[in-house]
Amino acid sequence: MKTVGHLIGGNRIAGRDRTLPLNNPSTGRQEAELALASADQTRLAVDAAEEAFPAWRSTPPAKRAQVMFRFKALLEKNTDEVVQIIGREHGKIAHDAAGEVQRGIENIEFACFAPQLLKGEFSKNVGPGIDSWSEFQPLGVVAGITPFNFPVMVPLWMYPLAIVCGNTFVLKPSERDPSAAIFVAELAHEAGLPDGVLNVVNGDKEAVDALLADSRVQALSFVGSTPVAESVYATATQAGKRCQALGGAKNHAVVMPDADLDNAVQSLMGAAFGSSGERCMAISVVVAVGEPTAEALVDKLKGEMATLKVGGSQNSNNDFGPLITAEHRDRVVNLVSSSESEGAVIVVDGRSPELVADDTGFFVGGTLIDHVQSTMACYQQEIFGPVLCVVRVDSLEEAMQLIDDHEYGNGTCLFTRDGEAARFFSDNVKAGMVGINVPLPVPVSYHSFGGWKRSLFGDLSAYGPDGVRFYTRRKTITQRWPSASLRESSNFSFPSS
Ligand code: NAD
Repeated sequence: MKTVGHLIGGNRIAGRDRTLPLNNPSTGRQEAELALASADQTRLAVDAAEEAFPAWRSTPPAKRAQVMFRFKALLEKNTDEVVQIIGREHGKIAHDAAGEVQRGIENIEFACFAPQLLKGEFSKNVGPGIDSWSEFQPLGVVAGITPFNFPVMVPLWMYPLAIVCGNTFVLKPSERDPSAAIFVAELAHEAGLPDGVLNVVNGDKEAVDALLADSRVQALSFVGSTPVAESVYATATQAGKRCQALGGAKNHAVVMPDADLDNAVQSLMGAAFGSSGERCMAISVVVAVGEPTAEALVDKLKGEMATLKVGGSQNSNNDFGPLITAEHRDRVVNLVSSSESEGAVIVVDGRSPELVADDTGFFVGGTLIDHVQSTMACYQQEIFGPVLCVVRVDSLEEAMQLIDDHEYGNGTCLFTRDGEAARFFSDNVKAGMVGINVPLPVPVSYHSFGGWKRSLFGDLSAYGPDGVRFYTRRKTITQRWPSASLRESSNFSFPSS
């Protein structure tokens, strides 16, 4: 059986000791095993990154960007292979996996702007004969810890930008679906990345703890569930590291009485059920304003859901695939069942979906739950499954209060034809990413991605302009070359221009 190892200092390193089975979630069968890195192996990756840093830091940004141009081209050429790998370990259908790869490529494109992004700021003559400039220096060795649900895109939120900024990187992908990340990292090497600039250690808490404990790791980007994000952020910042830790979500879509309901329903189908709802920007709650809106919305959603196709990743006609593990499927099913016992109404029940013979994996079909209350577990918790909850309210203000009161504040959206309502909503709602008639407002690579409240710990969002700030530190230099005409006598007052 194939064993997935690590990529350290440009070499494939086999694992030792502990292993974890890698199952295909579409069939439920084990297809490979993962070697989990020990703390010692993780430190080897940091050694390699530390050794590569001085030369990489001195490499001109335009040369670093040229590697990214070649990396982008190689990833485009190999997209089909990457999509297959994602399908086998994550269970994503090909069209969805290809979308993830494309969004990752856009982050590499942004990194190609390195010479422009790192130009700095210059002021001539801030005082007599004195020039001053700010430059953005790399931090050193930085690390990224990523979740299972975007095994290619989320690592690409991090290391292309970190690396073009002159840092060296240690990536710890999810132990559920590690192969795509390591395959893509090898493409980066093929593109000309020097050994040690990008290292991949596969592992679990032991590897993460080793990165947190290593004083050579200057900064850490984390994406995953909120309890782990919060703990990683606390430990990293306590140790004096810079940290951004993106956590879980509960994204609400508000549907106003004046909305184009057919458009809203079409948008909600993909946003709620795409990728089995295993997206941190998935819409998992729809808030219907007014009873007539709720009745019409539930009716139309129920109609559309009748044609939803759930099944294995090998069939690209399926709309969405399995959940990542049997345990996660059971958790989703239990949350649906709990809503029923708490008084909600299950309009479409996906707990026992119809499947073809090959699909023996971890499936839940599209599920619609109506009359959900904010006190219910299915409302309070992130379900991370193909489950859409409907909450009925009387006004936009009431809908916004619900969103504001929720512990998560990643994304939200409003469906309306009313510009005033849209403006009020986007100005005041407590969430980091807002869509108006756009169900998945995932910022493009030249903006930045981040939620509010317990969806993001840290001050800077991921990628885009915030990513550049996160992976660099500012140094401001003030310089004078004395000349005969500008020679000054001693001055004991505080300098001013
Ligand atoms: P997870 O928190 O279980 O794992 C994320 C990473 O943390 C993995 O690499 C894992 O190995 C590591 N990890 C897990 N437990 C750990 C521990 N106790 N100590 C140290 N490290 C640990 O998350 P997941 O199940 O892989 O991903 C799903 C979650 O990620 C969801 O909550 C989803 O909303 C969130 N997510 C958030 C965003 C965002 O941008 N906000 C994006 C994608 C996913």
